Formats: sequence, structure tokens, C-alpha cells
Amino acid sequence: MTKIPKNPRILLCNDDGIHAPGLKSLHKIAQEISDDIWIVAPESEQSGASHSLSLRHPLRIREVSHKKYSVNGTPTDCVLVALRHLMKDKGRPHLVLSGVNYGSNLGEEITYSGTVAAAMEATLFDIPAVAFSLDVNDSGPKWATAEYFGPQVLEGLMKYSWPEKVLVNVNFPDLIIKSVAGFRTTYQGQRQIFQDLLETFDPRGRPFYWVGTPKDDDSPHPHSDLTAVKQGAISITPIHLDLTHEDSLSELSGHFK
Ligand code: MN
Repeated sequence: MTKIPKNPRILLCNDDGIHAPGLKSLHKIAQEISDDIWIVAPESEQSGASHSLSLRHPLRIREVSHKKYSVNGTPTDCVLVALRHLMKDKGRPHLVLSGVNYGSNLGEEITYSGTVAAAMEATLFDIPAVAFSLDVNDSGPKWATAEYFGPQVLEGLMKYSWPEKVLVNVNFPDLIIKSVAGFRTTYQGQRQIFQDLLETFDPRGRPFYWVGTPKDDDSPHPHSDLTAVKQGAISITPIHLDLTHEDSLSELSGHFK
């Protein structure tokens, strides 16, 4: 069990890149609880990078300003570079925040998400970590909603006794501040139909393929992250990194005598 101390040293990361507007929102959120903030984020957009590590090219670090760096790698690379190198002598962070992602990370999407992966990497180092995402539909991102409610989420998480291997996945709905229907602690949901793949043709008539957007949930679990965001609430999901399916262990062992 870990508690976040008062005025924690915070590391910020994301998967939308060092110049993303969501990172500025995350900085504002972090400033509400700390004045010791480090930023290490990818040089270019890494959405969908999931928990990948760069093994086939060298990582270059660029100092953008004081305690702010970009890395030519994935969100996971950024957290590694921060913990193993940049912050090594200054003391590791008490809290890692990732996001605020442009677009929600709900249900199975979290397995693709670079935003959640940065939080995963921190969790593997036993550091409390939160992934923040903002649902975006047709009318443009409502960063003010994330900036308004983000500090309230952190305030609640300051009281949380973090178990090992657990991160917190937070999704804000695509609503203006006064329309938000409060906070809900939720389960990771499941979509009935998942990723779409679109076939299109180039000017020479050759087909190419483009990964589409996730389909909606046909039968949402009433306490899922998907349902909460659909109903206009802020979803807060504890995610456990132990992927073992315990119930299968005894049956499986019977098949391998
Ligand atoms: Mn992203």
C-alpha cells in the first residue's frame, strides 16, 4: 500500500506528444497539488502505441525547458528515461500522471492505449499512476472540463491506499462543466463489436486499409466505464496489472498432468 504525500513530486507523460493541448491541461491539474512537476513526453504522437518499448532505434532526449523533456520514443520509453535517467539523482516521483488524452480510453481500448501504458510503466515501478482521457465527439475537446474536475479527482486519490500493481484510469465525458453528472467508480467495460477496418482505394485502384474507430457498446454493463461516460459522469476505474485468470488455474492444471 502506498499513499501519495502532500506536495508530491509529479512526472507527467502522454501519448499525444510534447506539444499536445491535453498535456497543458494535465500540467494545470498537477499544479493544483504540487510545485515540483517534471514532464517527459514523446516528441511525436504515439496514440495506439500501447505498452511498446523502442528496441530498434536509439532514444534521444531533448531538453525543452527546465524539467521538461521530449523523447523520440513511446510513452513507455518516456517513463523509463525519466525514472532511470533524468530523475535518477533528484529522487523518483511520488505520482505519475498521463494524458490528458484527446479521446476516451474505455473498455478494451485500454490495451491499445499509450496513455494508459505510461501509467502501467510507472505502476511496474510501484509508483501510483493515473491515466486521464477526455471523451471527444463532434463539437471539439472540452479541456476546461478536465482542468476543472481533474484536481478533484486527485484530491480523492490522495486519500487512496494504493495497492501494488494497480493504476487508476480516469475518463471525462464530452460535456461542459455544468452538465457533468458527477464522479463514478466503475468496472472496465466491454464493447460488443470492436475495431472497425476500412477498405479504401488509392488513385491506381489498389486497396489500402485504415483502422477505424471503436464501435459502440450494445449491452453496456450498468457499472462500466463506458456507461458512466455515456451518461455524462466522470469514470474512475482501478485497473489491476495481474492478468492471470485465477478461476482457470485448477481446470487447466487438470489438462496438463
Ligand atoms: Mn492519444
